[in-house]
Amino acid sequence: MSAPHGINPNIPHSARVYDYWLGGKDNFEADRRVAEQTMAAVPGIRESARNNRAFLGRAVRHLSRLGVRQFLDLGTGIPSQGNTHEVAQAEAPESRVVYVDNDPIVMAHARALLTSTPEGRTAYLEADVREPRTILEHPDTLATLDFTQPIALVMVAILMHISDADDPEGLVKAYAQALPAGSYLVLSHLTLDLIDKRTADDYVAATSSQAMHRTPRTGERISRYFDGFDLLEPGLVAVSKWRETPLFPDEPAWMYAGVGRKR
Ligand code: SAH
Repeated sequence: MSAPHGINPNIPHSARVYDYWLGGKDNFEADRRVAEQTMAAVPGIRESARNNRAFLGRAVRHLSRLGVRQFLDLGTGIPSQGNTHEVAQAEAPESRVVYVDNDPIVMAHARALLTSTPEGRTAYLEADVREPRTILEHPDTLATLDFTQPIALVMVAILMHISDADDPEGLVKAYAQALPAGSYLVLSHLTLDLIDKRTADDYVAATSSQAMHRTPRTGERISRYFDGFDLLEPGLVAVSKWRETPLFPDEPAWMYAGVGRKR
């Protein structure tokens, strides 16, 4: 594909590497190189990406069935199968979703994210999740979401792209504070806790020289994002194990996933 305006196809980007793993076509040579290099060094990483996407769908469907009608989806990714509003609106057509991503390639596909049912509503913001005020106070956010009613904050495979210097715990807190009690946090995060040490070392060796930076974190650290939330069953678990049948149950688990309800 040719590069949309504002995109440097020579610099690998997480949205496009992930798109490649999911079997999408919105990626360039540089992205495919990083994706293939990582796959060669670490078994199951692509299956884990697919398990992660499947978790997003299961979690959104579960919350829809619990009555949640509003979603703030941070780090949306390139539209793929089962985008948040499609899953939510299949359960409840009046569902409303605000999508946020900072990769212009996602913006180039924003139309696919804006195909709301007439009863519901979707909005797309090109913004950086490290700027919660900008996102929470954006007119399109305020026109789409009612902050007096429960909102599901969706942070699926995004915080691993936020370095410690950018205070990921503080960011989650800034968003969580804006939500009423009874809101939810849907989160998944790269971890090395669930794989053997040798594979973890291989992962670090394969990725440390890559232009695309990701920060794996421990389960203990990831649990802290849920401060002020009660984790739903089954708690913080391997992404393939969060309720219902996983796609690839036997792949090494690279991600933790959990859903919490705000007290
Ligand atoms: N949540 C989706 C996509 C995950 S891929 C899913 O799980 O299926 C991670 C996404 O986060 C990419 O689309 C990338 O562009 C986006 N991203 C990374 N850093 C970001 C930042 N600082 N602000 C906004 N989006 C970011």
